Amino acid sequence: MHATVENLRKAVRGAVLWPGQDGYEAARTLPNAMIDRRPAFIARCTGTADVIACVRFAREHDLLVSVRGGGHSVAGKSVCDGGLMIDLSAMKGIRVDPVARTVRAETGLKLGEFDRETQAFGLATTQGVVPTVGMAGLTLGGGWGNLHAKYGLAVDNVIAADVVTADGRLLTVSATENQDLFWGVRGGSGNFGVVTSLEFRLHEVGPVFGGAVFYPAAKAKEVLHFWREFAVASPDELVTQGGSFTLPDGVPVFGVAGCYCGPISEGEKLLKPLRTFGPPLADAFAAMSYTQLQGMFEPFFPPGRQVYTKSNFLRNLSDEAIDVLVQYVGKSPSPYTFAPFLEHWHGAATRVPVAATAFPHRQYSWNFLAWSMWLDASDSEKNKRWTRECWEAVRPFLVAGSYGNYVADEGEVIAREAYGPNYDRLVALKNKYDPTNFFRMNHNIKPSEVAQPVAVT
Ligand SMILES: Cc1cc2nc3c(=O)[nH]c(=O)nc-3n(C[C@H](O)[C@H](O)[C@H](O)COP(=O)(O)OP(=O)(O)OC[C@H]3O[C@@H](n4cnc5c(N)ncnc54)[C@H](O)[C@@H]3O)c2cc1C
Repeated sequence: MHATVENLRKAVRGAVLWPGQDGYEAARTLPNAMIDRRPAFIARCTGTADVIACVRFAREHDLLVSVRGGGHSVAGKSVCDGGLMIDLSAMKGIRVDPVARTVRAETGLKLGEFDRETQAFGLATTQGVVPTVGMAGLTLGGGWGNLHAKYGLAVDNVIAADVVTADGRLLTVSATENQDLFWGVRGGSGNFGVVTSLEFRLHEVGPVFGGAVFYPAAKAKEVLHFWREFAVASPDELVTQGGSFTLPDGVPVFGVAGCYCGPISEGEKLLKPLRTFGPPLADAFAAMSYTQLQGMFEPFFPPGRQVYTKSNFLRNLSDEAIDVLVQYVGKSPSPYTFAPFLEHWHGAATRVPVAATAFPHRQYSWNFLAWSMWLDASDSEKNKRWTRECWEAVRPFLVAGSYGNYVADEGEVIAREAYGPNYDRLVALKNKYDPTNFFRMNHNIKPSEVAQPVAVT
């Protein structure tokens, strides 16, 4: 063991941690308190050379590998039991080219850090809506957010990536280099290698008209009917999401949040009906900076809570589906839960052909989420049971496919559904770039014939 650690320490410029060392416990801890895994080694990489060294070391010692970006995978995929955790969290280099409107970003960045740098130039690209989430994990799995209807998902804005593959080579992928892998990286969720940096197209964004309006939970049915018609008529500049949750003062509400990224006065006019069709409990819509809007949800998602989620796209938001959804509004056993919750998917992201990137879900308007969070592990059974009950009730209206980044449960069937009609092409790519399934701590695409690496404790 001692000689093995020494070899790894010599090979890597960043810190190498193992059980019992200062910093090890913090480095293995994820925001989702339900995940409790102990890697044999954690390598805090400083750059691509460290990542290559880690991949080669793990291969040589037949170690299971996990890759940590922001650590927010609800399934806890970024930390392994035994094996080597390749921790990218110190890799935060980022360079905006304001003339070309592109950004090259290392994959330890969180969304808030990424948005801050691009907004310094009045630019942005689609990322998610909670600033502590990792830019890489979110992007590699799809990346839905406030700009998706105007500019596409995060994956749709990727123009190049550097990938360390399972054989320890660095490949650059783009529309002109390693095109097959470029396709697979955009939605393949880390199955093909460690992505050390991503290059994105940027757009002029901000300030925006955004915020949220909160209605009494008892009015959920009226809000859902109104919002459904309102959302269908939304221009690409407007993205809305909403559902049942509890305000910090303990009041259960049905809230709808939104971001309009066009001219402020038009956003104000457009959103007025949603804010006034009935008397709201509170209205927090206003003109604000894009980064202010992007930070709005952060207080609701602190680290250290137990998290369990279920999510699938809705076939459509029918009257019958609404009737079932409202039965669960305000009923979660935990005041920290967001469920039932809906995201409206539309515009540019839904105009991309299903086979254009590995991310397949382009045809649905509504994504259903039950995002349960609670404090105490002793309440886990109760909260997980309720989450499943809520999802089971809505299930007749759901398609099998789900956005992999929102799924806590795992297994072959769930992974297959997450990749939808692109699955077989992804398997062919996995056979080519990772035939031994070296990268399997993810929503896994199994190669056709696998010799599994082992966990070493
Ligand atoms: C509070 C919260 C809010 C969220 N909001 C949104 C949202 O608005 N929109 C949205 O689309 N999603 C959202 N998500 C889901 C989010 O996209 C996923 O949880 C995503 O996996 C987080 O990425 P990460 O880097 O933080 O996670 P990690 O756990 O570090 O990584 C997730 C997966 O990607 C792999 N991975 C990470 N980085 C790399 C890399 N550089 N190379 C290869 N593989 C890598 C990991 O191995 C793991 O399998 C949210 C999640 C949470 C917890």
